Amino acid sequence: PPAIMWFRRDLRLSDHPALLAAADAGEVLPLFVLDDRLLKPAGEPRRRFLYDCLRALDHDLGGRLHIAHGDPVDIVPKIAGKIGAGSVHVSADTAPYGRERDERVQKALGDIDFVRIGSPYAVTPGRVRKQDGEPYRVFTPFRRAWLDHGWRKPAKSGVDSARWISLKGLKIPAAKSDYPAGEQAALEVWQDFRDGPLADYDTGRDRPDRDGTSHLSAYLRWGCVHPRTLLADLKPGNETFRSELAWREFYADVLWHQPNTARENYDRKFDRFKHDTGKAAQQRFQAWCEGKTGYPVVDAGMRQLLAENWMHNRVRMIVASFLVKDLHVPWWWGARHFMRHLIDGDLASNQHNWQWVAGCGTDAAPYFRIFNPITQGEKFDPNGDYVRKYVPELRGVQGKTVHKLDKLPEEYPAPVVDHAHERQVSLDRYDAIRTT
Ligand code: FAD
Repeated sequence: PPAIMWFRRDLRLSDHPALLAAADAGEVLPLFVLDDRLLKPAGEPRRRFLYDCLRALDHDLGGRLHIAHGDPVDIVPKIAGKIGAGSVHVSADTAPYGRERDERVQKALGDIDFVRIGSPYAVTPGRVRKQDGEPYRVFTPFRRAWLDHGWRKPAKSGVDSARWISLKGLKIPAAKSDYPAGEQAALEVWQDFRDGPLADYDTGRDRPDRDGTSHLSAYLRWGCVHPRTLLADLKPGNETFRSELAWREFYADVLWHQPNTARENYDRKFDRFKHDTGKAAQQRFQAWCEGKTGYPVVDAGMRQLLAENWMHNRVRMIVASFLVKDLHVPWWWGARHFMRHLIDGDLASNQHNWQWVAGCGTDAAPYFRIFNPITQGEKFDPNGDYVRKYVPELRGVQGKTVHKLDKLPEEYPAPVVDHAHERQVSLDRYDAIRTT
């Protein structure tokens, strides 16, 4: 009988073990289900990027990608029944909703095989464990064990043996992304980075004023490229880049073991932490969202997010720290704003990076190490070029003077808070939960 290849976060044809297994059946229906439970909270930029990824996949499949819309628990068994499928193939989804949905789909499929092969990670979450079987709570030992565990070599390309089945389905929504999408684009982005900035990644990655990172996050998010493909290309000198990929795997592993940490503090002592949520805090939060806090590097980052739906990692840390430790707003307000606007918004990476910054996550930076938004700007945007690029009111300010609050023009917002004062407030609140 024919098989269904149900694509989710694996929108590519090469290095795709689940697709190769489906192709063994001979006839394959390639399927994608537009599921409102995932699409609604995703935000427009991420949806548009998804649609373009689907268009690219459909093109690579010769126009055969079948698009359906609704709850997969109804749709997948219905289509399987219609074509008399013997099996439904997927790459495992390891995030909380996806796991639960897949269990329900499997049940609804009854006798039809539901075959999970691979995942969006080099090592499927849940596999790397301490000798006593417990999950890792700290990154460095996880990374070591993850390397020891290893992963398979990229699967050979070529699904030529499959005969694609077509059914009349829906059209992919027309909205288009500002970014090139799909497998071919992902491989080109990777090759440009691998043959260029990767050599200086150790120093270049921390400089938002330079283009020193890979920009692969959105492609990894949708599986236009698998991390195995990247890892196989790395050389012994590329440890830092390999570690960044390991962070992605670590956070997926943490979320797999504790799905509740998508919403709740990993460190439960922070449940008692005092946040500000009243009217004044809401106004400050709004200023942060709009990039009008009066702190230049924070505002540049928040405006980059709105303009490009992406933000440099160093600046993500600075703006997140500012929200949590200078404005005392709950980390999940910021995480939600990020998820709405980021093209690479990913539950595991986003929520756990936020928790890391807020001090309540795994491996968290010690709470008392509070980023100073001025010195961070001076250090990582030493000539002020990043700030000037995103904050037009500051374009007339020369060099690093853009980081000096008392030298900024009147049309630029006054600081919403005083960093030195708010830093102390944060430390006092931390003391209150540490000692009680
Ligand atoms: P590169 O520096 O080229 O890194 C290569 C890849 O490694 C990235 O594409 C990403 O997949 C992975 N990676 C790098 N740093 C991290 C990290 N700290 N944690 C997990 N994976 C990492 N990343 C997301 O993919 N989605 C998110 O929603 C997300 N939210 C974040 C929120 C906050 C508050 C912070 C501080 C970081 C967040 N990150 C998130 C991690 C990181 O900022 C982005 O992965 C990175 O900036 C993407 O750009 P790049 O592909 O050029 O990264």
